[in-house]
Amino acid sequence: MDFKYFDKAELFTKLRDIETKCHCCQKTRLCYDAEAFYGSSGFFGFNKMKSICTDCLTSGQLNKYDITTCNGDSAELKRQLKDLNPQLNDSEIDNLVETKTNELEKTTPPLITWQEWPWPCADGDYCKFIGYGSKPFYNRQAKDNNGRSLFTSSFYYSIKDASDETLWDNLLPDEEIKNYEDSNYDCLFYVFKSLNSDKIVTNWDCS
Ligand SMILES: [Zn+2]
Repeated sequence: MDFKYFDKAELFTKLRDIETKCHCCQKTRLCYDAEAFYGSSGFFGFNKMKSICTDCLTSGQLNKYDITTCNGDSAELKRQLKDLNPQLNDSEIDNLVETKTNELEKTTPPLITWQEWPWPCADGDYCKFIGYGSKPFYNRQAKDNNGRSLFTSSFYYSIKDASDETLWDNLLPDEEIKNYEDSNYDCLFYVFKSLNSDKIVTNWDCS
């Protein structure tokens, strides 16, 4: 299943192992574990969301709750949108940021990461998660087959200081990570792609 900000969710994230009742539609089916979402612990026990199905997530049911599946880098998005649209005033920019952030945070399947960090953006929109980084993955994405060069130019600004070319040799997996079940590494590279260009953005973290 394809989402605007998440490619191949059926491979790269996971539903619960057993069927549970969806908090929104009350149907018993395979659901996402909403207890891991941002804000799901809430103050009101009776309203606590345990599970949400794919249909309800896609159709925006999270908009009714103070719960999100991720946390967009809205400050950087605002900076980029201002840069790209000098003709727009502050409230027009704020509206754009709010619309995009809402869509990202309320309708995107959860990306399971070791650490919490904001969802990256590029070219004035949030990026699409396209898979876990590995040497073959970057080589395939690179037009000149030079995955190493693509990898080192793709670090998101927030991790640039902690990242350099040695990661390619020392930490980046040699084998393709084909799905979530495969992502059994102490350090993981998360690869995103701009919705508006071929730009690739990498974030990484460790357990
Ligand atoms: Zn549902």
